Amino acid sequence: MHTLIALAFLTASVLFIVGIKLLASPKSARAGNLIAGAGMVIALVAAVPLLHGSHGSHVTIGKWFLILVGTGIGLIIGALGAYRVKMTAMPQMVALFNGAGGGAAALVAGIEFAHVTRASTLLFVTAMICAALIGAVSLSGSIIAYLKLEGHFDKPVTYPAQHVMNAVLLAMMLLISLAMMAGSHSILLMLLVLVLALVFGMLMVLPIGGADMPVVISLLNSFTGLAVAADGFAIGNVAMIIAGTLVGSSGTLLTLAMCKAMNRPVTNVLFGAFGKAESAQAAAAAAATGTVKPVQADEAALLLAVASKVVIVPGYGLAVAQAQHQVRQLSDELAKKGVEVSFAIHPVAGRMPGHMNVLLAEADVPYDQLIEMDDINPEMERVDVCLIIGANDVVNPAAREDKSSPIFGMPIIEAEKARTVIVMKRSMGKGFAGIENALFLRDNCRMLFGDAKASLQELVTLVKAA
Ligand code: NAP
Repeated sequence: MHTLIALAFLTASVLFIVGIKLLASPKSARAGNLIAGAGMVIALVAAVPLLHGSHGSHVTIGKWFLILVGTGIGLIIGALGAYRVKMTAMPQMVALFNGAGGGAAALVAGIEFAHVTRASTLLFVTAMICAALIGAVSLSGSIIAYLKLEGHFDKPVTYPAQHVMNAVLLAMMLLISLAMMAGSHSILLMLLVLVLALVFGMLMVLPIGGADMPVVISLLNSFTGLAVAADGFAIGNVAMIIAGTLVGSSGTLLTLAMCKAMNRPVTNVLFGAFGKAESAQAAAAAAATGTVKPVQADEAALLLAVASKVVIVPGYGLAVAQAQHQVRQLSDELAKKGVEVSFAIHPVAGRMPGHMNVLLAEADVPYDQLIEMDDINPEMERVDVCLIIGANDVVNPAAREDKSSPIFGMPIIEAEKARTVIVMKRSMGKGFAGIENALFLRDNCRMLFGDAKASLQELVTLVKAA
């Protein structure tokens, strides 16, 4: 039995690693997801004998039917959530699911702590305290992140002496944890640590601007991974250790990649949100001068149809309009006319990493048409028409030219270098960063106002007829 369980955990771990590797490319991501899912099923089934203590384990929580009921409820919530979620609400769903993972890790640790005896090793006790602490921070932090993304907070919640308050909370948690590690095995202390960690998670996320929530969620995701790995140490579950470490490290890497793409250090995201709105407003006030030059759909269609090289820059507005199928149709129609069409993908376009890749994959846009920002930028001067669809911040030249801009230093798609730029959006409204975009006033830029889906439908018909 022991060998069988060890083999099952090993297989699950290999499947997790292969799955995560395949997730790195849109072509193989679907298979990666299924393979990692299969690993999770194997890990779940293999963990059940351990839970019953037949493996000599000290773990005795739950009964078979309870585990089945819990798994069933989880499956239903997960499947319904995934089917129903709108593409634009994906970050919220990730926040909630991540919070649930953190909460589960904290619960396991809390319950396991009741089994601590004098004979328990320091590693066992320490692992449980870590899982409880980190898991609870991840749970409450993720709930606040979810509420912020749902728009329940107008602006970052700040209060006096917040850093002092957080430091005091941290110190209290540390002291109680040390007491527990030194042999005070009271369950009341564990409960106190859990409550303090929940409060800390809330206070940590409350002052951070809603705009930075995707980064915070990614960071909390890595916390959940660490909590699960710590649980794995406590209950002797190898698959949990490996899966938790994978989630922890990939969450950390993703957090760093997002910060790099926005040219902001993680510390700035976590502690520098105050005043973001003010600085954004100041930058808006110092907006560039120029005139807005609207274009009608028929003229835009003609410009596109006679071009040799067209680059489409998708952004958050494309996801809002759910116009991915229409953009594919436009690309196909242009290709029929001999136009070379590619899609320029900015790493933080949209509201989550890979947002545009997923959106365009839904409409079966061929992967080789998607070009990363660094590869497309040197090409931009040779582009006849750059068609920007619902993107704003990721093409804002202020990131390169205006040192006072809050997004200064963020790498952008250099759309302004194309011969003609056509921007499709509903109004002169700002993007996520809340700042003006001087590109829209440039001589070579024309604005095609309207909902992206309706405008694209019109363009498809007009290009067909051109
Ligand atoms: P954006 O700057 O948020 O701009 C989106 C634009 O879409 C808006 O200006 C809006 O203008 C337009 N829009 C909205 N609905 C539309 C519709 N139905 N039809 C046509 N246009 C529509 O988007 P982005 O250029 O993709 O930039 C992403 C931003 O999110 C960056 O600031 C990035 O740092 C941030 N962010 C991204 C991530 C990530 O992982 N992807 C994570 C954290 C932060 P109108 O209102 O005028 O239509």
